[in-house]
Amino acid sequence: MPHPELWSLAQDVRDYLDYMASLGVDWMPRPAQPADNLGALLAPETLDDIRADLGDCRRCKLFEGRNHIVFGEGPAETPLMFVGDGPGLEEDRLGRPFQGEAGGMLTGIIVKGMKRRREDCYLTNLVKCRPPENRDPQPDETGACLPFLHRQIDAVRPRVIVALGRTAAAILLGSNAPMAALRGRVHDLRGIPVIPTYHPQTLVKTPELKRPAWEDIQRAMAILDAPPRN
Ligand code: SF4
Repeated sequence: MPHPELWSLAQDVRDYLDYMASLGVDWMPRPAQPADNLGALLAPETLDDIRADLGDCRRCKLFEGRNHIVFGEGPAETPLMFVGDGPGLEEDRLGRPFQGEAGGMLTGIIVKGMKRRREDCYLTNLVKCRPPENRDPQPDETGACLPFLHRQIDAVRPRVIVALGRTAAAILLGSNAPMAALRGRVHDLRGIPVIPTYHPQTLVKTPELKRPAWEDIQRAMAILDAPPRN
């Protein structure tokens, strides 16, 4: 076989497309600028590239009610990524993820619990526009928006993803399982460990779930503290 690396890359791409198709994603966005050589084609995409490609997105009906696209925020590369389901009222107003009570709860977990800085983590959601009345995003909406999240994950290259809430965890993992079955263990998303836990808004409303959520966060911390894999 003359180019085993390219063959392996092609197989990875096919596995990825099969995975996305299993989630109902039937299109993939094209790069904003055509690559003019193989080096450019293989160069990793940056978060700015992805945001530029998202543009003034109208790929699903959630654009109709939004005030701001909430793309996500955090470093260009970081080991720890949090993914929620979608922006709420405050997030839509400010254009930033995890604001208000839920944002305060998440910041507390990161700062007091994990002894990290919120600005050192990458925070984003499955869908970048607020679902009306904070309902769960619908399959056509997650199908339209999910490719951008996967591109963000590829750009940020986290060592661990914490999926906040059942919707985020189930969609990210392509599962129909309830939260009770999803949490309590480490899942795999294309080689990246995924820890499902309760959404911070759920912890605001139901403080007794803070203890199991802390167990989940400790799983994420153990991965972050482990020596890097080669
Ligand atoms: S939710 Fe995502 S796909 Fe839908 S309009 Fe907003 S940015 Fe576009």
